[in-house]
Amino acid sequence: MKSHAKAVVIGGGVVGASVLFHLAKAGWKDVMLIERSELTSGSSWHAAGGFHTLNGDPNVAKLQAYTVQLYKELEEISGQSCGLHLTGGVMMADTPERMDFLRLTHAKGRYLGMETELITPSEAKAMFPLMDETNFVGAMWDPVEGHLDPSGTTHAYAKAAKKLGAEIVLRNRVVELTQEVDGTWNVVTEQGTVKAEHVVNCGGLWAREIGRMVGLELPVLAMEHMYLLTEDMPEVVEFNKSTGREMIGVIDFKGEIYTRQERNGVLLGTYEKAATPWSPVETPWSFGHELLAPDLDRIAPSLEVGFRHFPGLEKAGIKQIINGPFTFAPDGNPLVGPVQGLTNYWTACAVMAGFSQGGGVGLALSNWMVHGDPGFDVWGMDVARFGEWATLRYTNAKVRENYSRRFSIRFPNEELPAARPAQTTPLYDTMVTNNAVMGDSWGLETPLWFAPKGTEPKDIVSFHRSNDFEHIGNEVRATRERVGVTEIANFAKYEVAGPGAEDFLNRLMTNRMPKTGRLVLTPMLNEFGRLIGDFTIAKAAEERFMIWGSSAAQKYHMRWFERHLPKDGSVRLHRFDQTLVGLSIAGPCSRDLLAKLVDIDVSTKNFRFMDFREIAVGGAPSMVNRVTYTGDLGYEIWMAPAYQRLVYAAIKQAGQEFGIVDFGMRALLSMRLEKNFPTWFRELRPIYGIFEGSMDRFIKLDKNDFIGREQAAKEQAEGPKLRRVSFMVDAIDADVMGDEPIWAKAGATDYRTVEAPHGFGAPRYDVTGKKVCGSAAANGNDSSGIRGIVDGDWRVVGWVTSGGYAHYVQKSMAQGYVPAALAQNESEGLFEIEILGRRRPARINIAPPFDPSGEKMRT
Ligand SMILES: Cc1cc2nc3c(=O)[nH]c(=O)nc-3n(C[C@H](O)[C@H](O)[C@H](O)COP(=O)(O)OP(=O)(O)OC[C@H]3O[C@@H](n4cnc5c(N)ncnc54)[C@H](O)[C@@H]3O)c2cc1C
Repeated sequence: MKSHAKAVVIGGGVVGASVLFHLAKAGWKDVMLIERSELTSGSSWHAAGGFHTLNGDPNVAKLQAYTVQLYKELEEISGQSCGLHLTGGVMMADTPERMDFLRLTHAKGRYLGMETELITPSEAKAMFPLMDETNFVGAMWDPVEGHLDPSGTTHAYAKAAKKLGAEIVLRNRVVELTQEVDGTWNVVTEQGTVKAEHVVNCGGLWAREIGRMVGLELPVLAMEHMYLLTEDMPEVVEFNKSTGREMIGVIDFKGEIYTRQERNGVLLGTYEKAATPWSPVETPWSFGHELLAPDLDRIAPSLEVGFRHFPGLEKAGIKQIINGPFTFAPDGNPLVGPVQGLTNYWTACAVMAGFSQGGGVGLALSNWMVHGDPGFDVWGMDVARFGEWATLRYTNAKVRENYSRRFSIRFPNEELPAARPAQTTPLYDTMVTNNAVMGDSWGLETPLWFAPKGTEPKDIVSFHRSNDFEHIGNEVRATRERVGVTEIANFAKYEVAGPGAEDFLNRLMTNRMPKTGRLVLTPMLNEFGRLIGDFTIAKAAEERFMIWGSSAAQKYHMRWFERHLPKDGSVRLHRFDQTLVGLSIAGPCSRDLLAKLVDIDVSTKNFRFMDFREIAVGGAPSMVNRVTYTGDLGYEIWMAPAYQRLVYAAIKQAGQEFGIVDFGMRALLSMRLEKNFPTWFRELRPIYGIFEGSMDRFIKLDKNDFIGREQAAKEQAEGPKLRRVSFMVDAIDADVMGDEPIWAKAGATDYRTVEAPHGFGAPRYDVTGKKVCGSAAANGNDSSGIRGIVDGDWRVVGWVTSGGYAHYVQKSMAQGYVPAALAQNESEGLFEIEILGRRRPARINIAPPFDPSGEKMRT
């Protein structure tokens, strides 16, 4: 074993092997993988080996598609078979709601270039004859699904990595990690110490323990998982003989079952409701190539449904039951990337579908380590998406919930109950007493909307407009016509101070820093000119700035800030999290209301739009920004938690004469829609340029050199390919939720060269090398290279990022991205947006429908 390496990958499961392969492929030859036992000694050896591309997050779906495409190349490089069976698969819907879900998934697939198809239960049965199709109302077919040999695949990655120069050390446990002052890692193993620039935690079942070696509690938990294998079945043999095909994979939502052919029988696995964690606190180092004791009682309810839906299975003998542990993060997606607060400590763990995701995880992480950026939008699996609240117990509750809901529908208005409430503000009890329906915002309880007194504060979950619709409308109208108050503790808040503070922010942000007592809105770019942040910044004093941003991105942004902090100590950075909370008042009476709470002149002359003041509000020391996300006249008031009840009580009491109402996050989001305001993580993400995001007003290319400036200047000079636009949609009883395809009528204008940044760029191949997706024929690409689905004169040209009902202007609205050449075209009849699988007319709406001149917020 060598004593130095550029990077040490800890763990030789499918994920570690993939990371090693991708690092070597990216040009880092001096890399090694250290495995405590043999390769695949964690979860990887007993996996069922299924793979698919579908994922709720289109960006993760893209990386899954990459994984599936990679296998052919991997076999060629390594000379090792992955044992691929590209059978295709179906998801079966047993109710109209599940069919809506499949329509939604299918629609999403259209702009990703996926070739899914909605089919009848009988068509599904023709490919999986063991089913009783009368149990189902419909199905969705995906040709890019199948199964492989888990051990062969892991060894294929490893062999390919070795061929590219990487080293693999087996039977050698990493026992300790320490770091030198210069950042070098000492990877202490049973066979000696390796000095490394970078370490990667691919510890799978032991990822938690490898995190603890550096004082990190990663939110990851292993769950027991069972699948069974039947004896040979004559029906299977007969099907193979008569059709010349293998039976397909099937997901049965109702039974929470996945099933497929395995040799001449069937494999059937469940994600049962009685989800059972394995080794919840610590994973024993002695655990090896072992299986857990099967527990058929636990999966009996699923099997009961399964035998009803697939009667052929009931008669089959069970040959073997596999029960093994594998790991999950609280939301079921991997934990990938550099860990905030540590240098060159990387994670690639909690990968629950290693054979669908391992390739994409390896590619993204190696890009990140070698080139400084993952090269994709990997937010959905970024380790930075969890905060300190994701403790061991939180993770336990959430992972169990996630596991048991693996095949359940998550409705767009559905808040999941496990591990809540976690964090609360001092107003939590008051909000609950006020009949608020609470939601989870990055671990913080936040009012979503207020149910009328005497009714149960509860969402009726639905893909359609629901029981909150009328009440959100009332909150919006009262705010727009009088005044409303809402909690805004769920923003990120930072302070940047010191003699180097202004230069630091000027280097990071695209807009000029404000004068003392003023605010600016400013995006932040990475070196590639892509959007990685959007903030409100106040200059509180000569060397002190306050920053507000997206709550969920706190760790993500801290990681970036810390990376760019000057080494000379001239800048101090502080994240408040819940040590600073807030309230916002908005509406035409909000100034008169504020005047009653403060002892200064708040007339526009003295307290202008985009002013910042440190004053007492209702007797509490506060910071006040004259700006709100409602786009109306309004103020954000920030205070220490100890004062929040005092300020709220003062606002409510003084607001009585104006008819003040409480409003929640949903009303706030409805109001921002009618102002065409974007949201972070929906409209603004690292896959878009600043001009694509229509954020032109917030970049000053001539102010000074800042990160991303050169690329942004290039984007401006060449013209953005895409533009973010707002639409009015002729919706019926359901509004867009995000990720719906946008259709345009051909001939509207020239929009040839555009491709979705998270679409499946390259064609996909089946095991025989035949193109199965992304081909011109399959996907409707024409000779000019336009990707996307075509239907007569119409083709998919873009995608929705978010939307909903804009209650004050009484319109269904959507925001999304279309080719720049189409973005100025406000004509009727040019666009359609697919809602729940049905295309509805839509029209671009350039000026915001509420207060287009911005007069209300300025006067
Ligand atoms: C019953 C079952 C069915 C499954 N079915 C599927 C499926 O159909 N499709 C799918 O995609 N996924 C499936 N999975 C999940 C899949 O197995 C995992 O996603 C995958 O194995 C995760 O791989 P990994 O490399 O992250 O972790 P692991 O496989 O757990 O590998 C971690 C490795 O790190 C090593 N290690 C840990 N600590 C140290 C240390 N200190 N020093 C050195 N080495 C160390 C371990 O020995 C181990 O080899 C299934 C899992 C189970 C249990």
